[in-house]
Amino acid sequence: MRRIKKLALKRINILYKKALKSYTQNLELSRRYIFLLWRIKQKAQVCIPQNIRSRFCRRCFIPWVIGRTISIRIRNGKIILRCKQCGYIKRLPFRD
Ligand SMILES: [Zn+2]
Repeated sequence: MRRIKKLALKRINILYKKALKSYTQNLELSRRYIFLLWRIKQKAQVCIPQNIRSRFCRRCFIPWVIGRTISIRIRNGKIILRCKQCGYIKRLPFRD
């Protein structure tokens, strides 16, 4: 079981890198990679690593790149991330 989880994490990392590489040329392909990543996460019941977790859209599965696929704003001490594809909004507490 532990081996499966390790393998799953490896796959998640690879898929995320592929998604980041391909989103400029082919958004659909990129979206497919993130979707697969999400499926692996659910099947293997692993947590997505912190560096990846908040870097894609939970609704439309595109990788989030600041200034490209998301817009970012700071209001009332909160960071507001808005997906340019589907309009999904994520709020994060602002820490300095
Ligand atoms: Zn989205």
